[in-house]
Amino acid sequence: MDNGKLNPGQWLVSDCGKYPSENSCKMVIAAPIDQKPHFMNAVVDHAGRVHGEKDTPEFRSNLEKTIEEVNVQ
Ligand SMILES: [Zn+2]
Repeated sequence: MDNGKLNPGQWLVSDCGKYPSENSCKMVIAAPIDQKPHFMNAVVDHAGRVHGEKDTPEFRSNLEKTIEEVNVQ
């Protein structure tokens, strides 16, 4: 990271600000696409701690649908 810019390449992004939540969470989590398992654990951990979600296979599969792939130039 340099000057607040992400390194070029494919990134996975989870943006809480795009979904309504009781605490108006605006957290953004991002990771290079080759670190998907680590990224998913971070997103699930955040969802559990901040949003009270349970880490179940169903929750993870719903979560996958909300994750964006961003091509950083
Ligand atoms: Zn959140």
